[in-house]
Amino acid sequence: MTIYNFSAGPAVLPREVLLQAQAELLDWHGSGMSVMEMSHRGKEFTGIHARAEADLRELMGIPANYKVLFLQGGAHLQFSMIPLNLLRGKTSADYVNTGEWSKKAIGEAKKFGAVNIVADNADRNCTYVPAFDAWQCDPDAAYLHYTPNETIGGVEFNWVPEVGDVPLVADMSSNILSRQIDVSKFGLIYAGAQKNIGPAGLTLVIVRDDLIGQAAANTPTMLDYKTHADAGSMYNTPPTYGIYIAGLVFQWLKKSGGIAAMERANIAKADLLYAAIDASNGFYHCPVNKADRSRMNVPFTLKDASLDGDFLKQADARGLLQLKGHRSVGGMRASIYNAMPLAGVQALVDFMNEFSGQHG
Ligand SMILES: *Cc1c(COP(=O)(O)O)cnc(C)c1O
Repeated sequence: MTIYNFSAGPAVLPREVLLQAQAELLDWHGSGMSVMEMSHRGKEFTGIHARAEADLRELMGIPANYKVLFLQGGAHLQFSMIPLNLLRGKTSADYVNTGEWSKKAIGEAKKFGAVNIVADNADRNCTYVPAFDAWQCDPDAAYLHYTPNETIGGVEFNWVPEVGDVPLVADMSSNILSRQIDVSKFGLIYAGAQKNIGPAGLTLVIVRDDLIGQAAANTPTMLDYKTHADAGSMYNTPPTYGIYIAGLVFQWLKKSGGIAAMERANIAKADLLYAAIDASNGFYHCPVNKADRSRMNVPFTLKDASLDGDFLKQADARGLLQLKGHRSVGGMRASIYNAMPLAGVQALVDFMNEFSGQHG
């Protein structure tokens, strides 16, 4: 039976990547060593690291005046590193509140300075992206932070805020590499690896040069972007195996046609799944405003929640795994990141139609 894993994170990785890692597990390219056993300063690993960065720069079109940092601590640590490094003597930062991950970023930022909430979607249960013309931006804000894809709520921006000279900061943990973006519009982009990049334990930060080197005076060395930028992400031991797998994922993306091809595939997958939900005569329901529905995380409920257990059990038996919704939302959530093939979404849709036919 073919298994399709719809986990929100850590999430499915491309099968080709796992097979290559398996083949190279004990002996990387004739070195006689596993990547896990190599010095991070040896020529083998520094080559792996340099290629991963070069491939990522090519895939995303990252301009030369941006640093690519491979860090640890997850997106959560960025919630504090961002205000520590980017307030730069200013007293306040702008935050957009579109759901659970925005709230966590906001809660942490409040420890370091004033937070101005420019827009909020709580009035409709965090199911839409607030229109930009109503945002209350502060022209003197140190930066503006937003969450382009709310992994739990399934709300995704299909546009980039135009905030002028205020540096734009984005938590792209769950949609990085899934759609084309213009990196030059951003001051800083960050993402935990475990959704669209590689294994948990690696955090990617892409930061514009001029935002580095102005951290608050009491910033711990490890939390200063300058430490990692100056040391090429080798100040301390980096998450070497995670960087290696991420590098294999970047190679896979390039072979698959790059981000443009990935975006087309992601649109096709999302359209297929939302169409099935919307055509179910209310048996399935997605609460998110149609224009703001995530291509990566598709939350949906069953009309009769007492069928949830049955749905999950039967899905499991068909090899459709980890569809249970987040505990704060309930129902189901299908995460359909880059590595989920169209055939996986088709298998889910076939099962959903069968299930609704039995119980509708
Ligand atoms: C998963 C996720 C996080 C949390 O990432 P960690 O690596 O566990 O800290 C933060 N933001 C978003 C948008 C996420 O999807």
